[in-house]
Amino acid sequence: MMNKKNMELYVHIPFCARKCAYCDFLSFPGNKRMQQEYTEQLLEEIKYQSAYTREYQVISIFIGGGTPSILETNQMTAILNALNSQFDIHPEAEITMEANPGTVTSEALIQYKRAGVNRISMGLQSADDKELGYLGRIHTYDEFLKSYQRVRMAGFDNVNVDLISAIPGQTVESWKNTLKKVTMLKPEHISAYSLIVEEGTPFYDRYGDHVEMDNDSMTREERKRLMSLPELPDEDMEREMYYLTREYLKEQGYERYEISNYSRKGYECRHNIGYWTGVEYLGLGLGSSSYIDGCRYHNTASFQDYINGSFGKKEEFDMLLRQEFEHLSIEGKMEEYMFLGLRLIEGVSAHGFVSSFGQNIRHVYGPILDKLEQEGLMELKEGFYRLTERGIDISNYVMSQFLL
Ligand code: SF4
Repeated sequence: MMNKKNMELYVHIPFCARKCAYCDFLSFPGNKRMQQEYTEQLLEEIKYQSAYTREYQVISIFIGGGTPSILETNQMTAILNALNSQFDIHPEAEITMEANPGTVTSEALIQYKRAGVNRISMGLQSADDKELGYLGRIHTYDEFLKSYQRVRMAGFDNVNVDLISAIPGQTVESWKNTLKKVTMLKPEHISAYSLIVEEGTPFYDRYGDHVEMDNDSMTREERKRLMSLPELPDEDMEREMYYLTREYLKEQGYERYEISNYSRKGYECRHNIGYWTGVEYLGLGLGSSSYIDGCRYHNTASFQDYINGSFGKKEEFDMLLRQEFEHLSIEGKMEEYMFLGLRLIEGVSAHGFVSSFGQNIRHVYGPILDKLEQEGLMELKEGFYRLTERGIDISNYVMSQFLL
């Protein structure tokens, strides 16, 4: 049998019950008709895209959004069944689905599991109801608990909980409380990112450099509510929260394997590790991106174009799914290999670099690696170049050194 290459799949479901105030993902509320049309078109896309990737075996799938669990159960199982029948999926593949509190029923979870999902990622963000309200989340901590119990009752033994620190009005104490409550539940994996105020979000109008209060998309009440939100924690407090996360989660038996990701041993997210180590991936659905054969491309981000498009004709297929086609140069690939790999605590493998590029990493980056080592920002350990704690603190500076 031909040796197949490894590939990961990402499937985007763009619908959410309501838009959170900090969110800049491609997501929006959708009615039943939009969800049905989208599912049908996604099934078409799965059929067409899979025909181009016969030489690959899928080692992980991530169904993200948006809120995938917002789809009807039969829509989601149709998508999962199509993936299973159209792609060659490794029997041990990690198959993650994002599920937001308040959008999962026990019956649905059992169906997802039957259709192959073996990992659930839950967006909690904070265990404090006031903070959840500031973020514009649709659920309370109690609702999360109920959903979490349903997930466990359905038999999922690999669960991630997403958290965000440095949110409006948050104190180090309340962040610690969130960490405490979540670790008591013993999820296998915790993602803990600091809030980033992204342009184009209501939070940017409130906290960005350029406060914009004439945003027409907001009602007078929404604007008033936004302006009454408490201030963001300052930089020192944000750092304190970050250090606390690292230390507290370590005490609780979670190993940090990436700058913002922690897990129990053996439960690192394989899909994300694949992404950070340069495994090829195919994105399916609105706005998703792919990296196949050294090329990166993006699906259209226009819902109407996606729904109305036809995958049957080559030109239309290319227009819908090959937007912003970019062929990465060898330098571009090396830079990306370093940027992504250095996010991992283990670092970048010198051996892996040779296998990927046929060149010794020191030939390309020798003087930079030496300089960063002298500055105490990087170290070489067991064949891996990795960031030191100090290097992680100023990772943007360190990464910028690897531009060729
Ligand atoms: S649930 Fe997630 S994707 Fe949806 S609006 Fe909130 S942050 Fe964005």
